[in-house]
Amino acid sequence: MNDFLAQTLRGEMSTPSCGEQGGLRWRWLGEGGLELTPTAGYQRAVALSAGIHGNETAPIELLDRLAGDLLTGRLPLTVRLLLVLGNPAAIRAGKRYLHSDINRMFGGRHSRFPLSGETVRAHWLEQALTAFFAADVLTGGVERYHYDLHTAIRDSLLPRFGLLPFQERPYNLLLLESLTAAELDALVVHREPGGTFSHFSSEQLMAASCTLELGKARPLGENDLSQFDAIDQALRALVSGTSMPVRRVAPMRLFSVVRSLMKRSEAFQLHVAGDAPNFTPFARGTLLCEQPGEAYRVAHEREWILFPNPSVAQGLRAGMVLTEIAPGELAGGVLSQPAD
Ligand SMILES: [Zn+2]
Repeated sequence: MNDFLAQTLRGEMSTPSCGEQGGLRWRWLGEGGLELTPTAGYQRAVALSAGIHGNETAPIELLDRLAGDLLTGRLPLTVRLLLVLGNPAAIRAGKRYLHSDINRMFGGRHSRFPLSGETVRAHWLEQALTAFFAADVLTGGVERYHYDLHTAIRDSLLPRFGLLPFQERPYNLLLLESLTAAELDALVVHREPGGTFSHFSSEQLMAASCTLELGKARPLGENDLSQFDAIDQALRALVSGTSMPVRRVAPMRLFSVVRSLMKRSEAFQLHVAGDAPNFTPFARGTLLCEQPGEAYRVAHEREWILFPNPSVAQGLRAGMVLTEIAPGELAGGVLSQPAD
């Protein structure tokens, strides 16, 4: 077992198999799923996923290199680790998805979509993650982490950012420390549930979870992986149990989602250019969208747009509006209640 990505891309090893090498036991869980367990014991279980969107290639290459270094013993492993390539069929095709976006389907929402390879895959991914974390239930005391790695399609004024799922319990401090070390430019805190992989693992599996958007997507093999050094180093520190690298850039900015702009009508109009970069700011009073019976104007002194997409299907989210909050508002992992 030494070539996680290539074997996945060739569609090989689709049946479970296992072995031992480099101070760890490996177990192939099925297409695009590899579990690594250190022979010397562990206190954390970490799931790293990439390729939930098949054309977001740089994180796929990062996970492949990480797997290679662990399997050859170049990097010691001190956590139980699950490596997941989310949508192998879409990765092979170089497409975001083939039928529907998997990252809207988690938490059982796949049953509301027309049956496709992606609804089947979303269900498989839920089961694989659930089984992975459940393996430690009897031993207890094992902390759970899940990082879902993406790259954005559009430009972003803050190029690297994380999205924390909505949760009522405090955010995990090691997770926050690792995101700081990963030199993210910004962290966005969701205020309501969603169908993402990280929301699923946070809500249903009690993992410390985050979705990461790590710059812009390029074709497989054409990425300049040096741009991903900081996240790579932070993940390597996490899985090998060493201290987090020191952040060398400006402090991470913190945002909270004010509202989702839902497209409820075919007459919906988004007054934000379809190619507007993420984190484009708008001043108070700016009309951002309108549809019959409803208009949304910027309510705070300044609000920022994230993932604007006027062409989504009716009933889906055409963008999110953010406010910036002081870093201290996430002190101790707890986000204070919104002021309004
Ligand atoms: Zn993505």
